[in-house]
Amino acid sequence: MKVKVGVNGYGTIGKRVAYAVSRQDDMKLIGVTKTKPDFEAYRSRELGIPIYAASVEFLPRFEKVGFEASGTLEDLLNKVDVIVDATPGGMGVKNKVLYEKAGVKAVFEGGEKASTAEVSFVAQANYEKAIGKDYVRVVSCNTTGLTRTLSALQEYIDYAYAVMIRRAADPNDSKRGPINAITPSVIVPSHHGPDVQTVLPINIETSAFIVPTTLMHVHSIMIELKKPLTEKDVIDIFENTTRVLLFEKEKGFDSTAQIIEFARDLHREWNNLYEIAVWKESINIRGNRLFYIQAVHQESDVVPENVDAIRAMFELADKWGSIRKTNMSLGILK
Ligand code: NAD
Repeated sequence: MKVKVGVNGYGTIGKRVAYAVSRQDDMKLIGVTKTKPDFEAYRSRELGIPIYAASVEFLPRFEKVGFEASGTLEDLLNKVDVIVDATPGGMGVKNKVLYEKAGVKAVFEGGEKASTAEVSFVAQANYEKAIGKDYVRVVSCNTTGLTRTLSALQEYIDYAYAVMIRRAADPNDSKRGPINAITPSVIVPSHHGPDVQTVLPINIETSAFIVPTTLMHVHSIMIELKKPLTEKDVIDIFENTTRVLLFEKEKGFDSTAQIIEFARDLHREWNNLYEIAVWKESINIRGNRLFYIQAVHQESDVVPENVDAIRAMFELADKWGSIRKTNMSLGILK
C-alpha cells in the first residue's frame, strides 16, 4: 500500500516536494493545489499531476479560462493520507484546522512556528522523533543546513556561533529585495539559533544578514570545542555525513555561482542541490575553535526531509532505510 500524498501550495518548495514524492515507490502523489491557473498549473497538468483549487473561492479563476480543476482542497483532503503544506509561511497553522477536520496527517514547512507541529524535523538529526506522528514541521532551509553539519559534530560542540548571509529572494521572485543593500536582522542573536534548538539540543547563537543574491545562503560557523579535533577529523566526519558535500576552492569553487553551476552540471531538476556544500579549505582549527563556511541551496535542501518525514509518520522505514531510499531516488551523492 502506497501512502497517498497531496501538496497544498505548489510554489518553490511545493513543486519540488511533489516531484520528489512522485519518485518514491512507497508513496503516490494524488494532486496539488493552485490558487490560479498560471503557467505552473498548465505545466503540472502536462506532467499528469491533478490540480485542485486551493479553496472554493479560487474555483471561478479556473472556470473563467476553461481550466478543469479536479476539485478543491477539501476534495483533495478526502483522497489523501497526508498533506504537505507548502503555502506561504504562517498559512499552514490556519490550514491545520482543515487537516484535522479531514483526519489527514500533515507536514509543515519552516515558515510555520514550531508549535504548529508535534516535532521539528531534520532526518539525520531526529528521524525517530517523527515516527508515528500526525504533524511534523520540516525546519527552514537555513535551520536544515545548520543542523546537517552541526549534528555531525554534536558531541564536540561546547558553543556554536553562526553568521548567516541570506539570499534576498528565490530566482523566480521579482517582488522582493533588497537590490542594493545589506539588511541585518537587528535583533541579535537572531531567531535561527533557537530554531536549530527545536531539533538539536546544542548551545548556539546566530546573527543574520540579507544580501542581494538569489542563488544560495552562506553560513560562517565558529564552534568552541569541548574535546579536541583536528582539521582532518572534521574533513573525515563531513565526508561520512549524508547530505553534506565538500567543495574545494582549489577546484574552482570560488563562490556560490560555481556551486550552482555544479548542480546544473548534474542535470538535476531545477538545478537542485539537496546537499549542504562545505568549503573544504574553510575548515580550520585555532586552539579550541573550529571554523568552517557552508552554502545552502534554499530552494531544495529541505526536499528530502519532506519525503523522510512522511516515511517516519507512516512508519514505512527506519531512519537509515528512509534516508538511503530518498537519496537513491533523488540522485543525492551520499
Ligand atoms: P512560494 O511563495 O514559492 O510558494 C507558495 C505557494 O503557495 C505559491 O504557489 C502560492 O501561490 C501558493 N498559495 C498562496 N496562497 C495559498 C493558499 N491560500 N492555499 C494554497 N496555496 C497558496 O513559497 P515557498 O518559498 O515555497 O515557501 C513555502 C514554505 O516553505 C514556507 O513555509 C517557507 O518558509 C518554506 N521554505 C521556503 C524556502 C525557500 O527558500 N523558498 C526554503 C525552505 C522552506
